[in-house]
Amino acid sequence: MGLHATYGLTRIINARGPYTPLGVSRSGEGVATAVAAALSEFFVMEELQDAADRALARFTGAEAGTAVHCTASAITLTVAATMTGESPERIAALPDTTGMPRAVVLPAGHAVDYGHPIEQAVRLAGAVPVAVGTEAGYTLEDLETGLSRPDVACLLLVSSRLVRGAGTELSEAVAVAHRRGVPVVIDGAAQDFRIDELLRTGADLVTVSGQKYLGSPTAGLVVGRADLVAAVRAQERGIGRAMKASKEAVIGVLAAIEARQELDMTAWRRQQADKVADFVVRAGALRGVAATSVPDPTGLPFERARLDVDPAVAGMDAAALVTALRVGAPSIWVMPGRPDAEELFFELVALEPAEIDAVLVRLSELLPG
Ligand SMILES: *Cc1c(COP(=O)(O)O)cnc(C)c1O
Repeated sequence: MGLHATYGLTRIINARGPYTPLGVSRSGEGVATAVAAALSEFFVMEELQDAADRALARFTGAEAGTAVHCTASAITLTVAATMTGESPERIAALPDTTGMPRAVVLPAGHAVDYGHPIEQAVRLAGAVPVAVGTEAGYTLEDLETGLSRPDVACLLLVSSRLVRGAGTELSEAVAVAHRRGVPVVIDGAAQDFRIDELLRTGADLVTVSGQKYLGSPTAGLVVGRADLVAAVRAQERGIGRAMKASKEAVIGVLAAIEARQELDMTAWRRQQADKVADFVVRAGALRGVAATSVPDPTGLPFERARLDVDPAVAGMDAAALVTALRVGAPSIWVMPGRPDAEELFFELVALEPAEIDAVLVRLSELLPG
């Protein structure tokens, strides 16, 4: 019997992407086998983290890397690292930041909410988030103003489709901070495909989620400057105790990196493009919707299918269609569109062909014949 039947759990088709409330992603066979083997073994955890360090450095070209519990904890721990360095006294004192730099400057539109506000991940280290600019965007002068405070620990930037407003090139923001000697952390949680691009901005630390497109068990990967990565690892004797990576997570990360390095990206991209193109043709034949493929706004290497709903013909608006898909069995989850637009999005990366067929069958049942 499968897990869903055993425990009475809802069967899901996840066309929403790597979404945490749905279990995020599917690990491949190599990861599943490695994780299963890890569970019944002991390891010297320092050695395991050293292996992750070498693998992450080879994978990304960064000086060093480490794994922590997840990206939310990676944000807390990278911020902590910029406040404490490797000082045992400072690490033991957190979240009391007396005598430490504690302001974390971030553009207002980068104050994203990925299930909780990113500012809370900052405050958890004892730091104080200081937003610059507005929801509509920020300029280099806004950054200069924020970074001119005497107590700045770091600049925090986010690379995500959740970011709002106009901004500068990330590399320009990094350069402004570096001219003041301020380290820069980039949260690129779902951007593992673009991690080398994020490192090329000059950022001192970049964090990505292992469990999003990389397909490892839950893990936050931190790569960048060796001294700051060492300061992140040192937090495990402080607030990082509650945010450590498990042995099975680190082994899973190693296996997931190997799988990514073996992936034929050209063939993978073609496969994703074909899936979306086929879906667009089949969904486009249904009444009440128009289907198109749209690129990822952050530059991830795949497209999504967008349905534009004509409520007069479809008999329901986009929001009602999203709900109707969700309440069926299996429960189909899609990406809702912008609140003011009659649209919904389907991310097909993780879907099997039979699941895509099931989505199209459900759409044909819900829309007028
Ligand atoms: C998913 C996400 C996070 C949190 O990642 P976890 O690994 O789930 O903790 C942080 N920031 C952004 C932009 C995200 O998309």
